[in-house]
Amino acid sequence: MTSYLIKNARILGGEPQDLRLSDGVIAEIGAGLAAAEGETVVEAEGLVALPGLVDLHTHLREPGREDAETVATGTRAAARGGYTAVHAMANTFPVADTAGVVEQVWRLGRESGYCDVQPVGAVTVGLEGKQLAELGAMADSAATVRVFSDDGKCVDDAVIMRRALEYVKAFGGVIAQHAQEPRLTEGAQMNEGTVSGELGLAGWPAVAEESIIARDVLLAAHVGSRLHVCHVSTAGSVEIIRWAKSKGWDVTAEVTPHHLLLTDELVRSYDPVFKVNPPLRTEADVIALREALADGTIDAVATDHAPHPSEDKDCEWAAAAMGMVGLETALSVVQQTMVDTGLMGWHEVAERMSYRPAAIGGLAGHGRPVSVGEPANLVLVDPAYRGTVNPDAFASRSRNTPYRGRELPGRVVATFLRGTATVLDGALV
Ligand SMILES: [Zn+2]
Repeated sequence: MTSYLIKNARILGGEPQDLRLSDGVIAEIGAGLAAAEGETVVEAEGLVALPGLVDLHTHLREPGREDAETVATGTRAAARGGYTAVHAMANTFPVADTAGVVEQVWRLGRESGYCDVQPVGAVTVGLEGKQLAELGAMADSAATVRVFSDDGKCVDDAVIMRRALEYVKAFGGVIAQHAQEPRLTEGAQMNEGTVSGELGLAGWPAVAEESIIARDVLLAAHVGSRLHVCHVSTAGSVEIIRWAKSKGWDVTAEVTPHHLLLTDELVRSYDPVFKVNPPLRTEADVIALREALADGTIDAVATDHAPHPSEDKDCEWAAAAMGMVGLETALSVVQQTMVDTGLMGWHEVAERMSYRPAAIGGLAGHGRPVSVGEPANLVLVDPAYRGTVNPDAFASRSRNTPYRGRELPGRVVATFLRGTATVLDGALV
């Protein structure tokens, strides 16, 4: 295994220091460290060192939709984005609702070598919302599943949701809810508001998200279990989560980069690249989400990386699939919306994109401080970089980014997974 000496990196934005990575761990941190024989020196002047990022919400599409993404291509995209671990959502074909499927995904992740893959198990059989999946068997499997979600669909039956919350308590699991009241969003195409009225598109009201979150925080409190709210997108949702946390209930939440930056005004273009679930909301929602992420009401940034092949996106708005790729642009969007605006420092970025998501997912060996003796999961980012997003250069198999041609700050220069470089000089190793 190659050893690395990283010169003059600013750990979490602090003073420049050298880091020696060997045998998979951070072996030494200090000023003016000398390179040992055979060590590769990485010049990191001006670069910020962060712990390897952890994503709670990634769609890797394998098994079943390998035309959109595979574990191999998705983990390469993750490495390019600075991630060392991702949680793979269960809405694959077949659905990840048995020990067999989650073990298959987990193994493919280990074989990829670019990023650890932690499978998320389905809450209900076939994501159909009717019958609990084999939660215990998935927890006991080689994949040691701790996060369960029917993401893409909402667990809308209150009794099923209650049983799931109760069941996962036994092994410290968590239910990650895709909060979308199905009846209120039948045929919905975009956020319900001024723009949907003008465009004549069926609206997706904020209350469809907020009513489920309100019910779920009450259920979680009632049974004393742990709830995680996926991709929070409205100011009202933030208020409910803030209230639940003030009660001391075990509720956590995530926000996507695109909900921190983009609004439903973009739908006026009718470009399906802006079609996503939950939908892009209003400027007031964006401001509330940024404030909630800064003050910790929202615990984590999660990409909801949702690759789709061009035939599912390059079509008319109503027919297009919902979702955006996000792994390779997440850190840049967070820098633009949260760091460059002064709302957060790099300490908080590490907290929201590494420590907290690893803790919520129960991932050992990730989300650890950048300290001697810790696993060498590390990303070096150049915050001074300015560049235009070029999806043709993505490692992901899909190109459905809303940022094509947009200038975003920051660039991942290097990523290390247990001391092995997966990205160097901005390119996959
Ligand atoms: Zn979702």
